[in-house]
This record gives sequence, structure tokens and C-alpha cells, in this order.
Amino acid sequence: MSEKVRILKVRFDKITMTEAIKKALEFAKDTKHHYICTPNPEILLAAEENPKYEEVLNKSDLNIADGIGILWASKFKKITEQNQGRLKIFGKWLTSLSAILFYPKYIRTEITERVTGADLMQNICKAAANEGLKIFLLGAGEGIAEKVKTILETKYPGIKIVGTHAGSPRPSMEAEITKKTNETDAQILFVAYGAPAQELWIARNLKKLTTVRLAIGIGGAFDYLAGVRKRAPKWLQKIGAEWLHRLIQQPSRIKRIFNATVKFPVKVLKKKLK
Ligand code: UDP
Repeated sequence: MSEKVRILKVRFDKITMTEAIKKALEFAKDTKHHYICTPNPEILLAAEENPKYEEVLNKSDLNIADGIGILWASKFKKITEQNQGRLKIFGKWLTSLSAILFYPKYIRTEITERVTGADLMQNICKAAANEGLKIFLLGAGEGIAEKVKTILETKYPGIKIVGTHAGSPRPSMEAEITKKTNETDAQILFVAYGAPAQELWIARNLKKLTTVRLAIGIGGAFDYLAGVRKRAPKWLQKIGAEWLHRLIQQPSRIKRIFNATVKFPVKVLKKKLK
């Protein structure tokens, strides 16, 4: 069992990419249903307002830290564990936040790695190709999952992508999607409906999926793989500024980015000062 840490209302597993892949494979080969969530700061803020979403996130089999903000929050929690004055807490808040940019090693001592849904998906695909596990791709725009299937088949020879479906997260579509998935015999299901729709979809439907053993909501990962959207360069990801790249690519995300970079750290501080 991995060590846990609670950030705002959501439990995280202190786990690296290598451990996450190992866990995912165990889940996919198990006899029970499992799901993995990849919460980021925005998702934590959404969970504050939505008790059902909070419950779904906390009942998952694994929660991995999809965002540098989560690594920061786990470090901030650690350094303010002992009783201390408000001014001191505020000082630690400021210095730990600046460390994201100027001394990133400092914030990587609690949750040590950012494990994004997009990266985890690729690693699972690679491992699944070796182990003969079957994969179903659900969600994203029309034709995207099909394109991702072709790309993955070239990248990971032997991979078994047994089905794709764009569809919609609307409950009225669920019967059709679960039926289609069950007919393919897939053990792993990637759901690209964006948060919170994908996690809520998984929570409502996982038990109806007769062969799927592992489901993961992976947000815009299909779009990145299909080349519809570009991932930030590695150096920007490293300094925790993937949000800057997203802002330039999709200016309409400004509110979401504000939530992740400003509202989230302020909320974490306020909770601590309460
Ligand atoms: N999406 C979908 N159906 C919907 C809403 C969203 O298939 O009704 C897809 C959308 O095409 C995109 C993904 O869900 O591929 C969500 O992307 P987003 O940018 O929200 O995810 P992030 O990477 O930010 O979590």
C-alpha cells in the first residue's frame, strides 16, 4: 500500500510513474473493477463544490498527482505540519511557491513526481502491448480515437486496441457505449471526456462493464496524441509552467488556468490558516 496525503478534500497516493504503471497492470489483470484518477488543482477545486465528485475521487483505487501544484501542496502541508504562527505559515507559503520556479527540487520531497494522465496512458499502452492486454478508447472529438488507435499501433507493435468510440458522456448514451465496450472484451478503458464528466461516467458505469478491469479518465490525452493539440515543451513542463503553453494555445482556458495557478494556492493557504 502506498503512503497517502490529503490535499484539500482529496486523497493522493505518493507514487512514482514506475509504481503507477505496475499498479495499473495489476489492476488490469485482477478479477475486480478498478479505476485511477489523475487529479490536478482544478479538479480539487471542483471537488470542493461537488460532494459527489469528491466521493468518486476518494473512492478510486489510485490517485496520481497530475500537476506541479499538487506536489507543491503536499510539500506545503508537510512544512506547516507543526503548530506555528500565521505569519510564519504565510512566509512558508510564499517561499515554497517561489521554489516551484527557482528551486523545484525543494517541493519534490513528498509526492516526488508529477504523473500526468497523458504520460501514464502511453506507458500503460506500452506495457499492455507486451502483456497482450486489450484496450478500448472512449471519448474526444469524432475520429480522434480512431486516429489515436492507428498512432498507438505504429508506436507499440502488437498493441491490441479492440475498440474506439467518440460518443458523449450523457447518461442517455451509456447503454449503447457499455454494450459496445462489453462486446470487445477489453480489459483497459481510457475515457477522454474531460473532468469531471469522465470520472463521473466511470463511477456510474464501471460495474456494468463486464470485461474492463481498469478505467482511467485521461482528459485531453487523445487530442495530444492525435496532434490536435500540442503538449508544452519538456522544459516548460519541468518548471511547472505547462499552463503558460496552454494559455497561449487556448486563450479561452484563462479561467481554468487562473483557478489552477492562483485560486488553488490561495485556497490551500486559507484552509491552513483557518
Ligand atoms: N470531450 C468529449 N465529449 C464531451 C466533452 C469533452 O469527448 O462532451 C473531450 C474533448 O474532445 C477533449 C477531452 O474531452 O478531448 C477533454 O479535454 P480537456 O482539455 O478538458 O482535458 P484536460 O486535458 O484539460 O483534462
